[in-house]
Amino acid sequence: MGVDFHQLEDGREFWLGGVLVPHYRGATGHSDADVLLHAICDAMLGAANLGDIGVHFPDTDAAYKGIDSKILLKKTAALIAERRYRVVNIDSCLCLQAPRIKPFIPQMQQAIASCLGISTEEISIKATTTERMGFVGREEGVVAYATVLLEK
Ligand SMILES: [Zn+2]
Repeated sequence: MGVDFHQLEDGREFWLGGVLVPHYRGATGHSDADVLLHAICDAMLGAANLGDIGVHFPDTDAAYKGIDSKILLKKTAALIAERRYRVVNIDSCLCLQAPRIKPFIPQMQQAIASCLGISTEEISIKATTTERMGFVGREEGVVAYATVLLEK
């Protein structure tokens, strides 16, 4: 399982699941701050007992500044492949108040599928608001959870 959090700021690009989502705010971070791809990377690394995303792609390393998280996802796939693992399927959930994510889910599935070399049918992406409660409800931040099944 993996979880990730990012703050939201006005005028930033909002990358989610490898897709640029039009919105007046976007996530901040050292990379492109794609909270969903980061949660999926963390879940893959965790299932292979390879630590977490911060161990492999530290935010103190200039090499990862502004990096497209699809590159991190591909690198993560290579790391688990070294241990002879592959992804069977993914379930995930995005928590954000706005915008509506449903129309972008097919594109996100496509982006993730092409990074991992699996079918879009094996990639579940769900989304929920927090009914305006808490930091997600106030649009101060975004959260993603992911669960990944690996096979050796
Ligand atoms: Zn992140």
